[in-house]
Amino acid sequence: DWSSDVCSSDLPVGIIGVLTDITDRKAMERELRRLATTDSLTGAFNRRHFLAGAAIEVERAHRYGNPLSVLMLDVDHFKMINDRHGHATGDGALRNLTECMRHTLRDIDIIGRLGGEEFAVLLPETNRDGALITAERLRANISQIKIPLPGGQALNFTVSIGLAVPKGADTSVEILLAQADKALYTAKAKGRNQVCAEGVDPG
Ligand code: GH3
Ligand code: MG
Ligand code: MG
Repeated sequence: DWSSDVCSSDLPVGIIGVLTDITDRKAMERELRRLATTDSLTGAFNRRHFLAGAAIEVERAHRYGNPLSVLMLDVDHFKMINDRHGHATGDGALRNLTECMRHTLRDIDIIGRLGGEEFAVLLPETNRDGALITAERLRANISQIKIPLPGGQALNFTVSIGLAVPKGADTSVEILLAQADKALYTAKAKGRNQVCAEGVDPG
């Protein structure tokens, strides 16, 4: 009979075991949620979760008539960083870049990695002028990042940023991202390491 082997001192251990199971399950649920919503390299929201969160903000901004801005950010000549210094250094640059974005931006801003070396940011309660200042601060801070290289030297890199704001009632995240992407293309064409807002002619 197995119960004859159980002595009273086993009971607290059993109770602790049950409590630990509950704590573990909650931690596991949190971990599963984190894995499903974030990008494993940088910890930024993945594309799907960014789009979902951004859609909620766009809807809210429209309903209350509040401003909102979207940034598209792409690392300049990132292929060259990989080619010259290796993929691991490139990965390190993306991690540091995301960390810099977190420090520079507010907690309420939504940061997503859309793919590769391309990121999007949704800035709630932020009009075009405010977003221009934020984007410029972001660009400047990122240009100061130093990635240590094996030889003891440090690597710098820059980003180009495109900015878009909603213009009509029918604005969606997709439309805003397309407009920000167009502005990003302009920033690249004008020489990279700069911020461009939609509606600016390529120089
Ligand atoms: P541009 O200034 O026009 O943006 O040039 P670029 O070299 O940054 O652009 P391109 O799109 O040609 O290169 C993007 C590179 O990013 C190519 C791809 O191998 C690399 N890449 C994409 N995802 C990752 C990643 O997770 N880690 C690393 N290390 N590289 C990545
Ligand atoms: Mg690039
Ligand atoms: Mg790119």
